[in-house]
Amino acid sequence: MQPIDGERLNEEVADLYSEYLNPGLAKVFRFAGLGVESRAEGCYVYDATGRRFLDCLGGYGVFSLGHRHPAVVQSVKDQLDRMPLPSKIMFNEPQARLAAKLAQVLPGDLQYTFFCNSGTEAVEGALKIARKATGRTRIVSTLGSYHGKTFGGLSASGREVYKKPFLPLLPDFEQVPFGDLSAAETAIDEKTAAFIVEPVQGEGGILIPPAGYLRGLRHLCDRHGALLIADEVQTGLGRTGFMFGVDRDGVAPHIITLAKCLGGGVMPIGAFSSTPATWDAAFGDNPLIHTSTFGGNQLACAAGLAALNVIESEGLVERSRTMGQLLVERLRAIQDKFNGFITDVRGLGLMIGVEFAEPDYGELTVTGMIQRGVIAAYTLNNPKVIRFEPPLIITESHIDEAARAVEESVLAAQELVVSIA
Ligand code: PMP
Repeated sequence: MQPIDGERLNEEVADLYSEYLNPGLAKVFRFAGLGVESRAEGCYVYDATGRRFLDCLGGYGVFSLGHRHPAVVQSVKDQLDRMPLPSKIMFNEPQARLAAKLAQVLPGDLQYTFFCNSGTEAVEGALKIARKATGRTRIVSTLGSYHGKTFGGLSASGREVYKKPFLPLLPDFEQVPFGDLSAAETAIDEKTAAFIVEPVQGEGGILIPPAGYLRGLRHLCDRHGALLIADEVQTGLGRTGFMFGVDRDGVAPHIITLAKCLGGGVMPIGAFSSTPATWDAAFGDNPLIHTSTFGGNQLACAAGLAALNVIESEGLVERSRTMGQLLVERLRAIQDKFNGFITDVRGLGLMIGVEFAEPDYGELTVTGMIQRGVIAAYTLNNPKVIRFEPPLIITESHIDEAARAVEESVLAAQELVVSIA
């Protein structure tokens, strides 16, 4: 067999992107010096030339268990040999077992789960059942939020640039400042179906609300008969050093959305779960009021079940907290050296943001990190902030490797900025 010529493959695939996928994106990847990803294992991704990258982005929160966790891969392989996709007309065992396991780990009395295939679908479903369960239409969300790019998810999201070209979006959506309880109090009333919120805003720039914010939102929703939806697509399952982001406030929402790492980094899956009362009000008179052909498929649910078991057996929630503290300390030390260039380092668990004085500084730093073999990215709604969401299995030596690349990249970026000023 001919050995693969990695450089040629990189060129060929980049050309295919330009011709058939997305010329703009092809330009961005080329500019950043990114090639074809061809293999991944643990905390590392390898490109077609064999170059190794430490994955500090973790697929925006997908790879909490690292890449190709053996327990998840095995469980998916076993399921593949039996039945990968559902007939839809019989009971589906992996789906039932995953729903039961989720009910065990979810906060409060969240009990019933609907499975879909992505985060934005989970949000769509959550918004739909909130409207049906309350008989109301108003949805309140937060500025800078990200809930996906389908019409419902986009209507709830808080960044104009992604919304404007598609107006009019869904009616009766309103946004209030994130972390501001008195703004929420003004917005939530007897017309409100739901308040949807991320426990930590991910794409908004890794923004952590004041402690008590989510608890306060739950009180406000209860007072007015509205539902609290926690969008934990990014924060869920250990990312923040808590099993769920809402656990930081010791509060349970009426509905929660999950996706990203629920599939263990091996299969795509999304889900929303609700309390029995909300569920009954939404599905009680018609169990098929919301459905999905591929949602709850056996392959994805087998991956989900294995992923939840790994999160527990490997103590990944605690690990997220301790490794997160370590990474924040290392990044703060770099901030101290480059004060003014880096303006803030913040995080909860292994959901960490580094804010730069200018978006360009962050972009230059990300590019420098990629050149040094470490993957990170800026946040979609706040390009001044680059984020670190590495696998929760990350070790101290990986953190050393990442910190070294950040420091060298910040130094190079600062020198470049000074030289062209
Ligand atoms: N909600 C949140 C909080 C997210 O972070 C994302 C994705 N970044 C989504 C929803 C949408 O998920 P997906 O891209 O899987 O549709």
